Amino acid sequence: ATPTALMVGTGRGAQLGILIKGPEVLENTRRADTIVLDKTGTVTTGRMALLGIRTAAGTDETEALRLAGALEHASEHPIAQAVATGAAERVGALPAPEDFANVPGLGVQGVVAGHAVLVGRERLLAEWAIALPAELEEAKEQAEAEGRTAIVVAWDGEARAVLAVADAVKPTSAEAVRRLQGLGLTPILLTGDNRAVAEAVASEVGIERVIAEVMPEDKVDVVRRLQEEGRTVAMVGDGVNDAAALAQADLGLAMGTGTDAAIEAGDLTLVRGDLRAAADAIRLSRRTLGTIK
Ligand code: ADP
Ligand code: MG
Repeated sequence: ATPTALMVGTGRGAQLGILIKGPEVLENTRRADTIVLDKTGTVTTGRMALLGIRTAAGTDETEALRLAGALEHASEHPIAQAVATGAAERVGALPAPEDFANVPGLGVQGVVAGHAVLVGRERLLAEWAIALPAELEEAKEQAEAEGRTAIVVAWDGEARAVLAVADAVKPTSAEAVRRLQGLGLTPILLTGDNRAVAEAVASEVGIERVIAEVMPEDKVDVVRRLQEEGRTVAMVGDGVNDAAALAQADLGLAMGTGTDAAIEAGDLTLVRGDLRAAADAIRLSRRTLGTIK
Protein backbone atom coordinates (compact mmCIF):
# COMPACT_ATOMS: atom_id res chain seq x y z
CA ALA A 1 0.00 0.00 0.00
CA THR A 2 1.10 3.55 -0.61
CA PRO A 3 2.06 5.81 2.31
CA THR A 4 -1.08 7.83 1.59
CA ALA A 5 -3.28 4.74 1.86
CA LEU A 6 -1.65 3.84 5.17
CA MET A 7 -2.24 7.35 6.48
CA VAL A 8 -5.85 7.23 5.42
CA GLY A 9 -6.15 3.80 7.06
CA THR A 10 -4.76 4.95 10.40
CA GLY A 11 -6.92 8.09 10.25
CA ARG A 12 -10.05 6.02 9.58
CA GLY A 13 -9.00 3.80 12.49
CA ALA A 14 -9.00 6.77 14.83
CA GLN A 15 -12.55 7.59 13.74
CA LEU A 16 -13.60 4.02 14.53
CA GLY A 17 -12.05 4.22 18.00
CA ILE A 18 -8.94 2.24 17.05
CA LEU A 19 -5.55 3.77 17.84
CA ILE A 20 -2.81 2.23 15.72
CA LYS A 21 0.80 2.49 16.93
CA GLY A 22 2.23 2.76 13.43
CA PRO A 23 1.35 1.94 9.81
CA GLU A 24 3.51 -1.23 9.96
CA VAL A 25 0.98 -2.69 12.42
CA LEU A 26 -1.62 -2.99 9.65
CA GLU A 27 0.26 -5.84 7.96
CA ASN A 28 0.05 -8.12 11.04
CA THR A 29 -3.55 -7.06 11.52
CA ARG A 30 -4.33 -8.23 8.01
CA ARG A 31 -2.51 -11.56 8.47
CA ALA A 32 -4.06 -12.61 11.80
CA ASP A 33 -5.93 -15.93 11.54
CA THR A 34 -6.44 -16.63 15.26
CA ILE A 35 -7.70 -14.28 17.93
CA VAL A 36 -7.13 -15.03 21.59
CA LEU A 37 -9.60 -13.24 23.85
CA ASP A 38 -8.82 -12.78 27.52
CA LYS A 39 -12.01 -13.36 29.49
CA THR A 40 -12.10 -10.92 32.38
CA GLY A 41 -12.33 -7.29 31.28
CA THR A 42 -12.30 -8.16 27.57
CA VAL A 43 -15.22 -10.50 26.81
CA THR A 44 -16.84 -9.64 30.13
CA THR A 45 -17.21 -6.19 31.64
CA GLY A 46 -14.75 -6.98 34.43
CA ARG A 47 -17.16 -5.24 36.77
CA MET A 48 -17.91 -8.10 39.04
CA ALA A 49 -20.35 -8.23 41.88
CA LEU A 50 -20.45 -10.26 45.08
CA LEU A 51 -23.63 -12.31 44.79
CA GLY A 52 -23.50 -14.62 47.77
CA ILE A 53 -21.62 -16.20 50.64
CA ARG A 54 -21.69 -19.64 52.27
CA THR A 55 -19.84 -20.17 55.53
CA ALA A 56 -18.57 -23.35 57.17
CA ALA A 57 -20.38 -24.48 60.33
CA GLY A 58 -19.35 -22.29 63.26
CA THR A 59 -18.09 -19.41 61.08
CA ASP A 60 -19.68 -16.02 61.47
CA GLU A 61 -20.66 -14.55 58.10
CA THR A 62 -19.95 -10.97 59.18
CA GLU A 63 -16.46 -11.93 60.32
CA ALA A 64 -15.75 -13.71 57.01
CA LEU A 65 -16.90 -10.69 55.00
CA ARG A 66 -14.92 -8.29 57.20
CA LEU A 67 -11.64 -10.19 56.89
CA ALA A 68 -11.98 -11.03 53.18
CA GLY A 69 -13.18 -7.52 52.30
CA ALA A 70 -10.38 -5.86 54.25
CA LEU A 71 -7.70 -7.86 52.43
CA GLU A 72 -9.25 -7.49 48.96
CA HIS A 73 -9.59 -3.75 49.49
CA ALA A 74 -5.81 -3.57 49.00
CA SER A 75 -5.91 -5.26 45.57
CA GLU A 76 -6.82 -3.76 42.17
CA HIS A 77 -8.08 -7.02 40.69
CA PRO A 78 -11.71 -6.79 39.44
CA ILE A 79 -12.65 -9.71 41.72
CA ALA A 80 -10.99 -8.00 44.69
CA GLN A 81 -12.98 -4.83 44.09
CA ALA A 82 -16.21 -6.82 43.95
CA VAL A 83 -15.43 -8.57 47.23
CA ALA A 84 -14.34 -5.37 49.00
CA THR A 85 -17.35 -3.38 47.80
CA GLY A 86 -19.82 -6.18 48.50
CA ALA A 87 -18.37 -6.75 51.97
CA ALA A 88 -18.45 -3.05 52.88
CA GLU A 89 -22.10 -2.84 51.76
CA ARG A 90 -23.01 -5.75 54.00
CA VAL A 91 -20.88 -5.14 57.12
CA GLY A 92 -19.80 -1.48 57.02
CA ALA A 93 -16.28 -0.16 57.57
CA LEU A 94 -13.42 -2.58 56.91
CA PRO A 95 -10.20 -2.66 58.97
CA ALA A 96 -6.86 -1.91 57.28
CA PRO A 97 -4.73 -5.04 56.79
CA GLU A 98 -1.50 -5.25 58.80
CA ASP A 99 0.14 -7.15 55.97
CA PHE A 100 -0.85 -7.74 52.35
CA ALA A 101 0.48 -9.54 49.28
CA ASN A 102 -1.05 -10.08 45.88
CA VAL A 103 -0.58 -13.61 44.49
CA PRO A 104 -1.16 -13.14 40.73
CA GLY A 105 -3.69 -15.54 39.24
CA LEU A 106 -4.46 -17.06 42.64
CA GLY A 107 -5.68 -14.36 45.04
CA VAL A 108 -4.42 -12.38 48.01
CA GLN A 109 -2.87 -13.17 51.36
CA GLY A 110 -2.12 -11.10 54.44
CA VAL A 111 -2.90 -10.30 58.03
CA VAL A 112 -6.15 -8.66 59.18
CA ALA A 113 -7.03 -8.02 62.84
CA GLY A 114 -4.31 -10.44 63.88
CA HIS A 115 -5.53 -13.27 61.61
CA ALA A 116 -3.51 -14.77 58.74
CA VAL A 117 -6.04 -14.55 55.88
CA LEU A 118 -6.15 -16.07 52.39
CA VAL A 119 -8.71 -15.14 49.73
CA GLY A 120 -8.69 -16.68 46.26
CA ARG A 121 -8.72 -19.93 44.33
CA GLU A 122 -8.79 -23.31 46.04
CA ARG A 123 -5.29 -23.73 44.67
CA LEU A 124 -4.04 -20.81 46.81
CA LEU A 125 -5.28 -22.61 49.91
CA ALA A 126 -3.73 -25.87 48.70
CA GLU A 127 -0.33 -24.15 48.71
CA TRP A 128 -0.83 -23.80 52.47
CA ALA A 129 -2.15 -27.37 52.76
CA ILE A 130 -5.62 -26.10 53.63
CA ALA A 131 -8.44 -28.32 52.34
CA LEU A 132 -12.09 -27.38 51.82
CA PRO A 133 -14.59 -29.11 54.11
CA ALA A 134 -17.32 -30.98 52.21
CA GLU A 135 -19.96 -28.28 52.77
CA LEU A 136 -17.71 -25.61 51.20
CA GLU A 137 -16.66 -27.90 48.35
CA GLU A 138 -20.34 -28.31 47.60
CA ALA A 139 -20.96 -24.55 47.79
CA LYS A 140 -18.06 -23.99 45.40
CA GLU A 141 -19.33 -26.56 42.88
CA GLN A 142 -22.81 -25.12 43.02
CA ALA A 143 -21.56 -21.57 42.40
CA GLU A 144 -19.45 -22.74 39.44
CA ALA A 145 -22.33 -24.73 37.98
CA GLU A 146 -24.22 -21.41 37.94
CA GLY A 147 -21.36 -19.85 35.95
CA ARG A 148 -20.03 -17.88 38.90
CA THR A 149 -16.47 -17.65 40.13
CA ALA A 150 -16.13 -19.23 43.56
CA ILE A 151 -13.64 -17.47 45.85
CA VAL A 152 -12.51 -19.26 48.97
CA VAL A 153 -11.76 -17.50 52.27
CA ALA A 154 -9.49 -19.05 54.90
CA TRP A 155 -7.94 -17.75 58.08
CA ASP A 156 -5.76 -19.17 60.80
CA GLY A 157 -5.25 -22.35 58.79
CA GLU A 158 -8.88 -23.21 58.06
CA ALA A 159 -11.20 -22.72 55.08
CA ARG A 160 -14.21 -20.79 56.38
CA ALA A 161 -16.31 -19.44 53.53
CA VAL A 162 -17.01 -19.48 49.80
CA LEU A 163 -17.96 -16.28 48.03
CA ALA A 164 -19.80 -16.30 44.69
CA VAL A 165 -18.72 -13.56 42.33
CA ALA A 166 -20.07 -12.93 38.84
CA ASP A 167 -19.21 -10.77 35.96
CA ALA A 168 -21.54 -10.03 33.06
CA VAL A 169 -20.65 -10.69 29.44
CA LYS A 170 -20.49 -7.39 27.53
CA PRO A 171 -23.60 -6.91 25.39
CA THR A 172 -21.41 -6.48 22.27
CA SER A 173 -19.19 -9.56 22.74
CA ALA A 174 -21.37 -12.13 20.93
CA GLU A 175 -21.71 -9.90 17.86
CA ALA A 176 -17.96 -9.24 17.91
CA VAL A 177 -17.23 -12.99 17.96
CA ARG A 178 -19.61 -13.57 15.03
CA ARG A 179 -17.95 -10.83 13.01
CA LEU A 180 -14.44 -12.10 13.77
CA GLN A 181 -15.50 -15.59 12.66
CA GLY A 182 -17.05 -14.05 9.55
CA LEU A 183 -13.64 -12.58 8.73
CA GLY A 184 -12.15 -16.07 8.96
CA LEU A 185 -10.53 -15.82 12.38
CA THR A 186 -10.65 -18.59 14.98
CA PRO A 187 -11.53 -17.12 18.39
CA ILE A 188 -10.06 -18.72 21.52
CA LEU A 189 -11.12 -17.79 25.06
CA LEU A 190 -8.17 -17.61 27.48
CA THR A 191 -8.56 -17.29 31.23
CA GLY A 192 -7.08 -18.03 34.61
CA ASP A 193 -10.59 -18.70 35.83
CA ASN A 194 -11.93 -22.23 36.23
CA ARG A 195 -13.19 -24.32 33.32
CA ALA A 196 -16.88 -24.30 34.27
CA VAL A 197 -17.05 -20.49 34.35
CA ALA A 198 -14.96 -20.23 31.17
CA GLU A 199 -17.23 -22.67 29.30
CA ALA A 200 -20.33 -20.77 30.43
CA VAL A 201 -18.94 -17.47 29.08
CA ALA A 202 -17.69 -19.12 25.86
CA SER A 203 -21.05 -20.67 25.05
CA GLU A 204 -22.82 -17.40 25.78
CA VAL A 205 -20.74 -15.59 23.15
CA GLY A 206 -20.31 -18.45 20.67
CA ILE A 207 -16.65 -19.38 21.19
CA GLU A 208 -15.83 -23.09 20.77
CA ARG A 209 -12.23 -23.26 21.92
CA VAL A 210 -11.47 -22.53 25.57
CA ILE A 211 -8.12 -22.51 27.38
CA ALA A 212 -8.87 -22.17 31.11
CA GLU A 213 -7.05 -22.29 34.45
CA VAL A 214 -3.94 -20.69 32.94
CA MET A 215 -1.60 -18.92 35.36
CA PRO A 216 -0.71 -15.31 34.40
CA GLU A 217 2.90 -16.21 33.55
CA ASP A 218 1.73 -19.08 31.33
CA LYS A 219 -0.55 -16.98 29.11
CA VAL A 220 2.49 -15.95 27.07
CA ASP A 221 3.30 -19.65 26.45
CA VAL A 222 -0.23 -20.28 25.24
CA VAL A 223 0.29 -17.58 22.61
CA ARG A 224 3.74 -18.96 21.73
CA ARG A 225 2.40 -22.50 21.26
CA LEU A 226 -0.31 -21.26 18.92
CA GLN A 227 2.39 -19.43 16.93
CA GLU A 228 4.44 -22.65 16.78
CA GLU A 229 1.39 -24.34 15.21
CA GLY A 230 1.88 -21.84 12.39
CA ARG A 231 -0.87 -19.45 13.39
CA THR A 232 -0.66 -15.67 13.20
CA VAL A 233 -2.04 -14.70 16.57
CA ALA A 234 -3.92 -11.60 17.56
CA MET A 235 -4.61 -11.25 21.27
CA VAL A 236 -7.05 -8.93 23.01
CA GLY A 237 -6.59 -8.14 26.70
CA ASP A 238 -7.01 -5.53 29.40
CA GLY A 239 -3.47 -5.77 30.78
CA VAL A 240 -4.51 -7.37 34.07
CA ASN A 241 -2.29 -10.49 34.09
CA ASP A 242 -2.02 -10.59 30.30
CA ALA A 243 0.39 -7.82 29.24
CA ALA A 244 3.25 -10.25 28.43
CA ALA A 245 0.92 -12.32 26.23
CA LEU A 246 -0.24 -9.15 24.45
CA ALA A 247 3.39 -8.30 23.73
CA GLN A 248 4.14 -11.85 22.48
CA ALA A 249 1.18 -11.94 20.08
CA ASP A 250 1.80 -11.02 16.45
CA LEU A 251 -0.81 -8.37 17.04
CA GLY A 252 -1.66 -7.11 20.51
CA LEU A 253 -5.00 -5.35 20.92
CA ALA A 254 -5.41 -3.47 24.19
CA MET A 255 -8.77 -2.64 25.67
CA GLY A 256 -8.75 1.13 26.13
CA THR A 257 -10.70 0.59 29.33
CA GLY A 258 -7.84 -1.57 30.65
CA THR A 259 -4.53 -0.76 32.30
CA ASP A 260 -1.66 1.40 31.05
CA ALA A 261 0.37 -1.82 30.79
CA ALA A 262 -2.04 -3.11 28.15
CA ILE A 263 -1.85 0.05 26.09
CA GLU A 264 1.95 -0.04 26.27
CA ALA A 265 2.15 -3.73 25.31
CA GLY A 266 -0.42 -3.49 22.53
CA ASP A 267 0.00 -2.55 18.87
CA LEU A 268 -3.55 -1.29 18.71
CA THR A 269 -5.84 0.20 21.32
CA LEU A 270 -9.60 -0.34 21.18
CA VAL A 271 -10.45 3.01 22.74
CA ARG A 272 -14.02 2.29 23.81
CA GLY A 273 -13.31 -1.20 25.16
CA ASP A 274 -15.79 -2.59 22.62
CA LEU A 275 -14.64 -5.91 21.16
CA ARG A 276 -16.44 -5.17 17.89
CA ALA A 277 -13.64 -2.69 17.17
CA ALA A 278 -11.27 -5.69 16.87
CA ALA A 279 -13.31 -6.84 13.85
CA ASP A 280 -13.32 -3.26 12.51
CA ALA A 281 -9.52 -3.21 12.80
CA ILE A 282 -9.14 -6.43 10.79
CA ARG A 283 -11.50 -5.20 8.08
CA LEU A 284 -9.81 -1.83 7.96
CA SER A 285 -6.34 -3.34 7.55
CA ARG A 286 -7.52 -5.61 4.74
CA ARG A 287 -9.13 -2.68 2.97
CA THR A 288 -6.15 -0.42 3.45
CA LEU A 289 -3.75 -3.07 2.21
CA GLY A 290 -6.04 -3.86 -0.68
CA THR A 291 -7.01 -7.47 0.01
CA ILE A 292 -10.75 -6.79 0.04
CA LYS A 293 -12.90 -4.10 -1.44
P1 ADP B 1 -8.51 -13.83 33.81
O1 ADP B 1 -7.56 -14.77 33.15
O2 ADP B 1 -9.95 -14.24 33.58
O3 ADP B 1 -8.30 -12.40 33.38
P2 ADP B 1 -6.90 -13.78 36.34
O4 ADP B 1 -5.73 -14.48 35.71
O5 ADP B 1 -6.71 -12.37 36.70
O6 ADP B 1 -8.26 -13.96 35.44
O7 ADP B 1 -7.31 -14.58 37.69
C1 ADP B 1 -7.53 -15.98 37.64
C2 ADP B 1 -8.32 -16.45 38.84
O8 ADP B 1 -7.54 -16.27 40.06
C3 ADP B 1 -9.62 -15.70 39.10
O9 ADP B 1 -10.68 -16.21 38.34
C4 ADP B 1 -9.80 -15.94 40.61
O10 ADP B 1 -10.35 -17.22 40.84
C5 ADP B 1 -8.38 -15.92 41.14
N1 ADP B 1 -7.99 -14.57 41.64
C6 ADP B 1 -7.07 -13.73 41.09
N2 ADP B 1 -6.95 -12.61 41.81
C7 ADP B 1 -7.82 -12.70 42.85
C8 ADP B 1 -8.18 -11.88 43.97
N3 ADP B 1 -7.62 -10.69 44.19
N4 ADP B 1 -9.11 -12.33 44.82
C9 ADP B 1 -9.70 -13.53 44.63
N5 ADP B 1 -9.41 -14.35 43.61
C10 ADP B 1 -8.49 -13.97 42.74
MG1 MG C 1 -7.58 -10.47 32.70
